[in-house]
Amino acid sequence: MVRVGFGFDVHRLVEGRELWLGGVLIPHTVGALGHSDADVLLHALCDALLGAAALGDIGQHFPDTDMRWKGADSKVLLREVVRIIGEHGWKVGNVDCTLILERPKIMPHVSAMRAVLAPLLGVDQDAVSIKATTNEKMGFVGREEGVAAHAVALITRA
Ligand code: MG
Repeated sequence: MVRVGFGFDVHRLVEGRELWLGGVLIPHTVGALGHSDADVLLHALCDALLGAAALGDIGQHFPDTDMRWKGADSKVLLREVVRIIGEHGWKVGNVDCTLILERPKIMPHVSAMRAVLAPLLGVDQDAVSIKATTNEKMGFVGREEGVAAHAVALITRA
């Protein structure tokens, strides 16, 4: 038995914050604003996994009113999501993510992201796809006011 899920997230880009994407710290002039480390790719991925298992969303499991998650490393949230779906009898099959931002170039960081995410998801690196595109300078992403991510995840019966 297999299920598929989809996730989407957006964070504002501001000065004075670190830019965490896909569990990796990316050197840049601005960073993503949020209650946790604001890793937009991991948040989209958490929602895709929860969605596949029909177990709600990241905001339900990790409310931004909960001080436990203030400044949280989103890798901890992802590990918790994998544990939650595991409790319901699911394991990760594969994931496919797309980041949308104008700068910086993401390709040089993709192998590091896959290496970080594969063990958290309990899959081989070839089951972790990370892609990136710009928004062709249009809209809030194009103006570099924010960063967005989409993710799909396939889960299978453990
Ligand atoms: Mg988020």
